[in-house]
Amino acid sequence: MEFVDVEGVGKVKVRRGAHIRFLTVRVAAGKGVWVTVPRGVSKRQLRDFLVEKRDWILQTGEQMKQYERETGLGIKIGAEIKTKLHVLKIAESEGEKPAYRIEGKYITLWVPRGINLSGVEEIVKKFVLEIYRLECRRLLPERVRLFAEKYGFTYTRLSFRNNVSNWGSCSQDDHICLNIKLMKLPDELIDYVILHELCHTLEKNHSAAFWALVKKVCPDYAAYRKALRAYNTRL
Ligand SMILES: [Zn+2]
Repeated sequence: MEFVDVEGVGKVKVRRGAHIRFLTVRVAAGKGVWVTVPRGVSKRQLRDFLVEKRDWILQTGEQMKQYERETGLGIKIGAEIKTKLHVLKIAESEGEKPAYRIEGKYITLWVPRGINLSGVEEIVKKFVLEIYRLECRRLLPERVRLFAEKYGFTYTRLSFRNNVSNWGSCSQDDHICLNIKLMKLPDELIDYVILHELCHTLEKNHSAAFWALVKKVCPDYAAYRKALRAYNTRL
């Protein structure tokens, strides 16, 4: 594998190939930083390009690291993932199947020895989702109930879902559904999503009346809405 050293960034993987048409730098969770280089680009041009993109690489790299910490993506044996209520430890076992053991707030996930990295990732992802679901069930029903009581909303049902299309939804019959990946978010953003969905029990669309209601129960909603864009509903 070819690398290029960029001051302040470190080693960047270089990918070349006849099919590559654009000089682009990419950053992805679990994969790090790499640059795709079309034919005919000199070492000097490549370096200048990366120096020019340095701020972007550093900033995006930081976001990716945070994302990896939150989700356990790109995880290795020995790593620890902190969730709202638990600390997950990834360990190797002699067994053939993954298994886990819960001791208070500590959960150890045993991954069969010798499994490849993407195999570990798959197991960890499924596991983290399971923990998110468990923590949602433990933390959110009470939270939703309290907010509903405080502001006088009523809902018919609350359920949790693992989906990518939204953080939450509210049906015509006021059934509120929350995304289990809310567990990735800071508490104030979770509260915003809950309040947003509770407001939909009265206003079914995103009309001015809806946002006025949101503002009443969550005065800082605009800042939360903006902050929410830094997160996504994927794992
Ligand atoms: Zn909405």
